[in-house]
Amino acid sequence: MKIKDVRTHVLEAPLSEPFGWSFSSTSVRASCLVEVTSDSGITGWGECYGPARMLIGRDPTATDVIWMDLYNHFRDYGQKGVVLSAISGIDIALMDLKGRHFGVPASTLLGGAVRTSVDAYATGTYRRGSGDPLDYIVEEVKGYVGEGFGAVKLKIGFGVAEDVALIRAVRKAIGPNIGLMLDANHGFDALEAIALGRAVADLDIGWFEEPVVPDDLDSYVEVRRGQPIPVAGGECEFTRWGFREVFMRRAMDIVQPDTCAAGGLSECKKIADMAAAFGIRYAPHVWGSGIGLAASLQLLASLPDVPPRHTPRAPILEFDRSEHPFRQAVLKTPIEHESGRVAIPMGPGLGVEIDREGIARYRVA
Ligand code: CA
Repeated sequence: MKIKDVRTHVLEAPLSEPFGWSFSSTSVRASCLVEVTSDSGITGWGECYGPARMLIGRDPTATDVIWMDLYNHFRDYGQKGVVLSAISGIDIALMDLKGRHFGVPASTLLGGAVRTSVDAYATGTYRRGSGDPLDYIVEEVKGYVGEGFGAVKLKIGFGVAEDVALIRAVRKAIGPNIGLMLDANHGFDALEAIALGRAVADLDIGWFEEPVVPDDLDSYVEVRRGQPIPVAGGECEFTRWGFREVFMRRAMDIVQPDTCAAGGLSECKKIADMAAAFGIRYAPHVWGSGIGLAASLQLLASLPDVPPRHTPRAPILEFDRSEHPFRQAVLKTPIEHESGRVAIPMGPGLGVEIDREGIARYRVA
């Protein structure tokens, strides 16, 4: 037997008399029912805790007010994870709508654009089903350098010895003048991560991303102390409160909130301001369709130069080069790089026009 269909039914009914509790009140009862049907014709029913119709009728320009209402409403059953991804998507859509209403890019709503383009680094080097990674990953990285990228990020976390051999081969292939970062996708424990960082300390590595699992900040602190490569992370962290812990414990040198997960554009600007105050670098995690990429670019436009100087160290864009059939298909004009540099769309809102036909081609629900 296999699952054939999953449907949701959001129900709502007004109450004869509203009732309240310490932080809120309600005039309706609502529920989200889940219906799962199998190919043998059996239907199962489930219920998700606590939906609410919190947006219809609201002023869409009150983005921070709506953000806090959503977060306050859902706090009791989700301060991280998918709840925050949902709030992020709503916030990004509202910032797009608000920018279009006022005729300005979202970066203006975030305080103004510091820059109109950004350097990008290439993300790729995923493992394939066959072949020798020492061959095909080295070739892939050389391709990015040939396209003009000034920095690339290498996927590791397959075992310290294997990773060290690959890192050495890649550095040798690209020479000393291309930025090289490592991403272990939390595939190590602290001892392995420290051993790896020490073993490649002579290879001028830009950062060591997600060396250990995100829920173990003590291990992050150990890795920072135990090896010399700057430690990056935070694509699995959420909101100003989640990053407050990272900042206060100085668990990372570079934080990488995902704009589509950590709370949206308005929340990530707050996290970025906190990072600047704590003296911790900010390099957004970017992984999604052209809409998430456009949102990330609006945030990157608004990030301050820290510290200010004549030749500032500007923030860098993660430019995912792995296969994504609808990354650009959802946009009327694709966002591309030119010799490793990406122009920030300056039209209203996210600055991009959505291709509804492109969206329809890939819609499954
Ligand atoms: Ca990553």
